[in-house]
Amino acid sequence: MSEESASTVNRAVLQTLESLRAAGVQQLASISAEDEEPNVEQLPATSQPLQEERAALATTLEQLQTVVAACTLCDELASTRSQTVFGVGDPKARLCFLGEAPGADEDRLGEPFVGRGGQLLDKILAACNLKREDVYLLNVLRCRPPNNRNPQEDEAQNCRQFLDRQLELVAPEFICCLGAVAAQNLLSTTVSIGRLRGKLHDYQGIQVVCTYHPAYLLRNPSAKKDAWADMKLLMREMGTPVGE
Ligand code: SF4
Repeated sequence: MSEESASTVNRAVLQTLESLRAAGVQQLASISAEDEEPNVEQLPATSQPLQEERAALATTLEQLQTVVAACTLCDELASTRSQTVFGVGDPKARLCFLGEAPGADEDRLGEPFVGRGGQLLDKILAACNLKREDVYLLNVLRCRPPNNRNPQEDEAQNCRQFLDRQLELVAPEFICCLGAVAAQNLLSTTVSIGRLRGKLHDYQGIQVVCTYHPAYLLRNPSAKKDAWADMKLLMREMGTPVGE
């Protein structure tokens, strides 16, 4: 095994142990002398079919989170992340917000939408009479791309099984895609966010509204007017309209 692969496996093992500890597991069975050589069957799965099988078998978000924490399908991301960033909020929310990928703050804290963009999202939620705990927040990717680059196509494909299973388990009625990467990935389109926003879309029976990412709004405050129009459309469709 190369040094880089060994480091990736070590990181995945440590993250799995951390997830088990967070889930309340205090002790693991000891390994006998003849088992001291690592058995590849016992190492975290790195193949797509095995990960897909494990994701499909997860019947709760907690189980799925443990599978995700051990995932090393994207070599570069798995070897540079501090931790996976799964999702947060009401596990039975009517409304999910879908972003792009964890940034530096999310990677450090293990929670999506923290930092300045997250603070703006909190303000948008408050204007809609919602709190973070009322909705569910997740990303297309569960690992931070180095230097906050855009997710690559193969990375988004690798992580899609987790996104789909997470959405199946939460079973929202509405999804709000924040930014072009989220919207284009979910809806499998190359249409620009400027043309996707302002109307309703359908994703497997879930109503979808697309709008600008909070980080984009911080750089382009003039787009806030359009984002607010999108939120009003979403709230109206949800039956909880908000004022002008
Ligand atoms: S981004 Fe998703 S598929 Fe890629 S390593 Fe992270 S959890 Fe696995």
